[in-house]
Amino acid sequence: MLIPCLACDSRFIPDEYFRACHDYNRGRDLVAWTCPRCGNRDDLRVLPGELGFGCPGRRRFDVHDRFRVPGLRRKRQILRLDISLDEKTWRVPTRLSPTGVPDHRFTCAETRLPAPLIRGRYAGDS
Ligand SMILES: [Zn+2]
Repeated sequence: MLIPCLACDSRFIPDEYFRACHDYNRGRDLVAWTCPRCGNRDDLRVLPGELGFGCPGRRRFDVHDRFRVPGLRRKRQILRLDISLDEKTWRVPTRLSPTGVPDHRFTCAETRLPAPLIRGRYAGDS
């Protein structure tokens, strides 16, 4: 299955999509997602079996659009969110310092490669 970017309509395999999640916000139960293709940033809520998209910036996050991802699971940890699908798990850490730190866009469990390298690998043009 493929998961789309709502801004540019690019589609991603789950591994590529969840690697691009960052900055888990436990209080609002959101993760940020930055599109590896167009750079658009969305906030989304990982729910059992689906992703929820809504309006960022409000005090409360209301899910308006849902994208079904059958088998998707989530586990809330104190300083990170674990997202699981099939046999894989992606860890999305909480950003500890809200200011003055680099954008830890790709601090997922499996890779810290910058986006162009990930793209290059998937495009097969390394
Ligand atoms: Zn995009």
